[in-house]
Amino acid sequence: MMSLLDKLNQQNVSFSLEFSPPKKDMPVDTVYRAMEKLSVYRPSFVSITYGAGGGNRERAVEVASHVGQIGLEAIAHLTCVGADPGQINSMLDALEENGISNILALRGDVPQGMDKSTAFVYYRHASDLIIDIKKRNGFTIGAAAYPEVHYESDSLEDDLRYLKLKADLGADFFVTQLCFDVNALFDFHEKAYKAGVSAPIVTGIMPVLDPKQIIRMTLLSACSIPASLSRLVSRYGEDADAFKRAGIEYAVEEINRLKEGGLRKFHLYVMNKADETAEIIKMSGLA
Ligand code: FAD
Repeated sequence: MMSLLDKLNQQNVSFSLEFSPPKKDMPVDTVYRAMEKLSVYRPSFVSITYGAGGGNRERAVEVASHVGQIGLEAIAHLTCVGADPGQINSMLDALEENGISNILALRGDVPQGMDKSTAFVYYRHASDLIIDIKKRNGFTIGAAAYPEVHYESDSLEDDLRYLKLKADLGADFFVTQLCFDVNALFDFHEKAYKAGVSAPIVTGIMPVLDPKQIIRMTLLSACSIPASLSRLVSRYGEDADAFKRAGIEYAVEEINRLKEGGLRKFHLYVMNKADETAEIIKMSGLA
């Protein structure tokens, strides 16, 4: 099988998928069915999110292992907020034992219920986690990138400095935060490259399928809502089916514009919407 980095460095247009594991006591089959349904389009990798604080870590490992079992390349997200090196190492052991060698190294946000004074004792930033993963050989490491600037950062320049630091410490690739501003994405790719980051940057795509969810996610991630998107919410916000149709077309157009501008690697957040994601993949020619 071609390595993840070889795939990401290829010049062709390709896509990947992101799933979240269900909570501990919820059935896992729905996610597996969605994964299998979308596996026919041959994503270059499938990433599995991680609950900051690690409360659902067994599930995360189980679901990431399943990705490999159905013949796809798995990336396990891993956060370090509130963790100590022993916990991180035992998670890395578990991933290794399950044949998972790709990690998206993240800091995470302080989860509800975690004492803030214990959140950053051992790891302050994703860069600290990257250092620890790098100490062990054999992992390919990805990290997060923010085209519209991370909410804690004062400027894009600051963010880019830390992006470069993450690359220098061992991040082999990046995945971007949801961003609906196509020009901000082009600008970010150019500025990251100028800042010396030559690692592949995969563009995160959040399909617009549920108006409430979109508003919540954009607020949480401090990203802007273009007029074309707010028009969609005003026009179809009360009609779930019409919104979904318009949202699929919106995502397809976004991907097409990004492709025309030269971007090639797209990471789709599935959010339990396998059928709609399949339509986006087909209509935008990603498959
Ligand atoms: P960092 O890289 O530490 O950045 C956080 C802030 O600190 C930024 O403002 C940055 O500029 C600054 N900074 C970075 N390094 C340094 C440094 N060395 N010194 C000083 N300042 C620094 N969260 C989850 O809980 N689970 C997930 O599965 C998950 N998946 C994600 C996937 C993607 C693609 C993205 C983009 C985000 C994801 N997140 C996830 C959210 C992420 O955990 C939060 O955005 C978090 O606030 C920051 O994580 P980070 O890894 O970017 O942190």
